[in-house]
Amino acid sequence: MSRHVVVIGAGVVGAICAIEALKERHRVTFIEPGEPGGEQAASYGNAGWFSSHSVIPPAGPGTWKKVPGFLLDPLGPLAIRWTYLPQAAPWLVRYLASGWTAERVTKTARALRALLSDAPRLHQDLAQQAGAGHLIERRGVLHVFPSRRHFEAEAAAWGIRRQMGVQWLELSADELRRRKPELDSRYAFGLFVEEAGSCRDPGAYVAALVALARARGAQIVRDSATGFRIESGTLKAVLMGAQEIPCEAAVIAAGVRSKPLAALAGNRVPLQAERGYHVVIERPEAGPRTPMMAADCKAVASMTEAGLRMAGQVEIAAPDAAPNWQRAHILRDLLLSLFPALPRNLPESRVRYWLGCRPSTPDGLPCIGFASATRDIIHAYGHGHVGLVGSARTGRVVAQLLSGREPEIPTAPYDPRRFA
Ligand SMILES: Cc1cc2nc3c(=O)[nH]c(=O)nc-3n(C[C@H](O)[C@H](O)[C@H](O)COP(=O)(O)OP(=O)(O)OC[C@H]3O[C@@H](n4cnc5c(N)ncnc54)[C@H](O)[C@@H]3O)c2cc1C
Repeated sequence: MSRHVVVIGAGVVGAICAIEALKERHRVTFIEPGEPGGEQAASYGNAGWFSSHSVIPPAGPGTWKKVPGFLLDPLGPLAIRWTYLPQAAPWLVRYLASGWTAERVTKTARALRALLSDAPRLHQDLAQQAGAGHLIERRGVLHVFPSRRHFEAEAAAWGIRRQMGVQWLELSADELRRRKPELDSRYAFGLFVEEAGSCRDPGAYVAALVALARARGAQIVRDSATGFRIESGTLKAVLMGAQEIPCEAAVIAAGVRSKPLAALAGNRVPLQAERGYHVVIERPEAGPRTPMMAADCKAVASMTEAGLRMAGQVEIAAPDAAPNWQRAHILRDLLLSLFPALPRNLPESRVRYWLGCRPSTPDGLPCIGFASATRDIIHAYGHGHVGLVGSARTGRVVAQLLSGREPEIPTAPYDPRRFA
């Protein structure tokens, strides 16, 4: 049964939902106020990791002990603005609770693994269809640590990854030096995860995906969705203020802005912006051939089409609060310290900064599934730290739900009603 599907939001999740829905012979209209793949979207400036091994949720056992540090150090890798604490508190309590025990973390890891496994190949296929195959690399990613002891401090998380079937190669200081001579010598231990991939320009990738959807017949309306017209449990239209688009189905894929739309579709979802930053050094003198995460700073360095990018940081704040560019300066300084061949007197004219909002649920799992108000509306947001890698299978599952078919993976862990 072919349906007219309105996809709300043309970030990476909306773009792939649209492509997969078109494959199932549905008619698609995007509603998107910005440029697809543009700077307003988290999909534009992320670290570009197709890390199918990113199965550990952000909060784990003992994270609660670090909360005072989050509050006291506004420039730490994870920071919470004091003024925002009353608003963020209910989300934070759930966030800490979801990682309270190793059993809970393992359950989340299993659900994430189902969503992420094989993602690099799925993205490569999509990118090739979109004429953007050159943006995708499947040459693994690297985690670098100051010492083996730092890795051992994370042993529990890596143990869960191993249980999920993730494999890696350990690199001693000498092996790391041989493979990565450009890296500062304070890093003396590495893990190479071969199954992962990366994207050299996530914004351009999303733009190419949306162009592919349009070439296959999707329309795009430059506006913001504001709600739904639902009559007797049937979706009649998606609203944009006084305007509306008649349709038979809709997908909410508006990233961090999905919360009010989810509520109008009958689901109160605790969605929070985990804001992150990136810095790009244009025409860099040095940089990694394999994208790498500096484990002590939780930030990723990778070569992109625009230059050497470092992305990371978590700031719990309102999506529209003023950026704290000092956080991006930290990333710039970190890049300079990681790669000693970069010039110490780097001119600011060669540096670009960006702030984006991860759309994050407290349990580290996205919302994918039917809305409570009507099964004609499907939730597809809340991917937090793994939205780029997780978008490929999300799109497939959403299209299967739209067509009334059994999804290829069990969707119960992502049910938007789990927070009720
Ligand atoms: C610093 C940083 C690093 C990251 N690194 C990685 C990584 O390496 N790998 C990974 O997998 N993930 C990473 N992520 C997470 C990833 O970027 C996000 O999870 C993902 O981009 C979310 O995609 P999305 O399509 O849901 O949302 P978005 O990309 O934010 O897109 C949502 C779109 O909806 C539109 N929109 C908003 N409101 C409306 C409305 N009312 N009507 C219509 N349209 C609307 C917006 O304009 C936007 O274009 C990172 C994030 C950050 C911030």
